[in-house]
Amino acid sequence: MKVVGLTGGIGSGKTTISRILRDLGAYIIDEDVVSRILMQKGQKVYDDIVGYFGDGILKENGEIDRKKLGSIVFADKEKLQVLNEITHPAMVEYTKREIERIISQKKHKLIVIDAAILVEMGLDKLVDEIWVVYVDRSTQIKRVMARDGLSYSEALNRISAQMPAEERLKFGDEIIDNTRPLDEVRAQVEMLFYKAIE
Ligand code: ATP
Repeated sequence: MKVVGLTGGIGSGKTTISRILRDLGAYIIDEDVVSRILMQKGQKVYDDIVGYFGDGILKENGEIDRKKLGSIVFADKEKLQVLNEITHPAMVEYTKREIERIISQKKHKLIVIDAAILVEMGLDKLVDEIWVVYVDRSTQIKRVMARDGLSYSEALNRISAQMPAEERLKFGDEIIDNTRPLDEVRAQVEMLFYKAIE
């Protein structure tokens, strides 16, 4: 069974495309979900984060306040690096075990890892192919503004914090142009799915 890494910038359409792939019979590992699981109380990642950032990043119920943590590391590159050093290796390990578990179940036709920063995290080592979801910049800005209720400059800020879309294209074994209308995108995704499970 093949493992595909699905990557693309904020609001490029990874979730939308993952849903299409799930309907076709793929198992999706969503790295946002993985990071939430590993930040739960009782996990080593939780202890390491609280150890470094202090109790100030906890909510009253003892959970990590992800928004607060996000605003701290967004403003401080060194702290972001520390957070990444705590979370990324644990996420790769967790994903590796998930892949083994899904393969042994033999229930799915394809495994898809949905990750905005697939290559940056080192998850690319676990996949057979990388599919990059691309949207042109003005479409990306419009979609992020509409989905997240952000202003033009807020959307641009979030987009600019990530790898430029053109650079990400270099890593793609396949490119999904999600600037196109959804029915066209669906047709391309179906074609890629059937090719991948051949
Ligand atoms: P993030 O990394 O921020 O979670 P994402 O890559 O998962 O984003 P989506 O949430 O799938 O992106 O898509 C962003 C927005 O664009 C959503 O509101 C979605 O409904 C819309 N969208 C996605 N693909 C298309 C398309 N081909 N045509 C029109 N709208 C689209």
